[in-house]
Amino acid sequence: MNQKKTILVTGATGAQGGSVAKALLAENNFTVRVFTRNAQSEKALELQQAGAEVVTGDLDDIDSIKNAMHNCYGVFGVTNFWEHFEKEYQQGKNLIEAVKQMNVEHFVLHTLPDYNKLSNGQYPTPHCDIKAALQAYTNTQNIPATFMQVAFYYENFFTFFPLQKSADGGYSFGFPQGDTKLAMVSIEDLGPVVAAVFNHPAEYIGRTVGVVGADDTCYEYAATLSRVLEKKVNYHYIPRDEYAALGFAGAEELANMFEVQRLYIPQRQIDLIESYGLNPAMQPFERWLSKNKSRFTAMMQTEEAITA
Ligand code: NAP
Repeated sequence: MNQKKTILVTGATGAQGGSVAKALLAENNFTVRVFTRNAQSEKALELQQAGAEVVTGDLDDIDSIKNAMHNCYGVFGVTNFWEHFEKEYQQGKNLIEAVKQMNVEHFVLHTLPDYNKLSNGQYPTPHCDIKAALQAYTNTQNIPATFMQVAFYYENFFTFFPLQKSADGGYSFGFPQGDTKLAMVSIEDLGPVVAAVFNHPAEYIGRTVGVVGADDTCYEYAATLSRVLEKKVNYHYIPRDEYAALGFAGAEELANMFEVQRLYIPQRQIDLIESYGLNPAMQPFERWLSKNKSRFTAMMQTEEAITA
């Protein structure tokens, strides 16, 4: 019997890598090895229970990355801007150099488009621009790679952008996206897309794949939220300068991100079609929302109790 090839998954205790590790484990075509700074964390132990090999290392330490890649056929790479900020570039570069030195045969790296370039230098957006620079660097190294560009997570409604209670008794969310379509996706659905890419290296090496589950305007998402949650939910367009001035950490970065999307990314229909082809179980927003209705209801009840 042939031994299964091994894939190293970085970020496996987080959203993206977790989705990829779970899908690869469920499929059972590859041995799954996960890379974490803390092998004793609850998530790392859960992955081990589910059948993954767990290896300790740090993206700051190239030797630890190379050690984890020993005998690996493939690597899924994700870097986390929101924890490390500009250091993300060096961490990504360490990962890419390790992939090159360890002769990995298929590198699947999460990247994003260069928003600074898209806006002719008007709206630098480091969490996107750094990832685009990492994609460019990978290509200079002639690494057999596929790049995954993941849309805005539906799950952001539970984290960065929770619904806010409005004075009229309804709810709202707001940012500078205007009435341009905003591509979104459930992070649960990334894993099967990446698994399909690993299963078809000849077709996907050299490609960039956009991972998109829905491509509607925020007014349409608000209408879906109202219908499914049975509460009035409005989307408010907050212009870029007003949003950047809100003063919270990352406000300017996010203001620029939405502004570039509003002005330069009108739709992502091709990415949507390809994503559903690679993962037929991809969830449209309404289906994901219906599945998570009780979680939204609990959040709204907590907010109603706080504001009462
Ligand atoms: P996450 O859930 O916060 O998980 C972060 C992961 O990174 C953890 O598994 C953590 O592992 C690992 N990690 C962090 N620093 C590390 C280090 N120094 N060495 C080794 N591992 C390290 O993050 P995520 O959502 O999966 O991914 C974040 C990225 O997604 C960001 O760069 C963001 O720009 C991008 N993104 C987000 C969205 C969105 O809508 N939110 C959309 C597209 C792209 P341990 O703690 O176990 O070491």
